Amino acid sequence: MSRTRTTCPGCDRDDRVQAVPAVYLAGRDAVTSRERNRDGDMRTVTRAVTTGLSDALAPVPAPPSNAIGGVGLAAGFVGVASLMGWMFVEGALEGGSDPMPDFAFAPPASPGPDLGFLSWVAALALGVAFLALVELWRRRAAFASLTRGRHRAEELWSHGWYCHRCGTVHFEDAPGEDRAPLTLQRFRERVWEHGGYGHLAARQRAMDPARS
Ligand SMILES: [Zn+2]
Repeated sequence: MSRTRTTCPGCDRDDRVQAVPAVYLAGRDAVTSRERNRDGDMRTVTRAVTTGLSDALAPVPAPPSNAIGGVGLAAGFVGVASLMGWMFVEGALEGGSDPMPDFAFAPPASPGPDLGFLSWVAALALGVAFLALVELWRRRAAFASLTRGRHRAEELWSHGWYCHRCGTVHFEDAPGEDRAPLTLQRFRERVWEHGGYGHLAARQRAMDPARS
């Protein structure tokens, strides 16, 4: 127990302690990381960790959902389809000047009044698509602006060590931070506050089951 560098302050052992960035990345992909084995030697291991743990250790909030982009895409599709349908009907109705005899292609009985609404559907749908794209862009810009200080959060974050036995994180050599074991939520609050978006930690809880 003479080594203190990666000893968990909760259980006072170091065999299950792993650097937070390594745990985080391992939950996103199968990556190799350096960690200390029982003899205190550093070695390279490949480990799969649940995505829920990885999410809980995220240094930045989840980016805005792309759902509104999907809405915009669907509206755009409806808009273009309606526009094409409308233009096709208009073209068919104006096809009278065509040398082709009228009886060769019999148009629907009375297409005019029934299909005129397509132009309105097209205009409405394209308007919705445009607004959805503007909103998507606005949200992304707001998120980028909000997480401007993420490099500061990541700097503190990289000093975090996660204990797989206790399920807690402690800081090592982080200026202004002691070595007290922190819950995942508490760790998130400390890191996110450092990045200037600590208020989001209350809304995006580290252990929110809906997000895992
Ligand atoms: Zn521990």
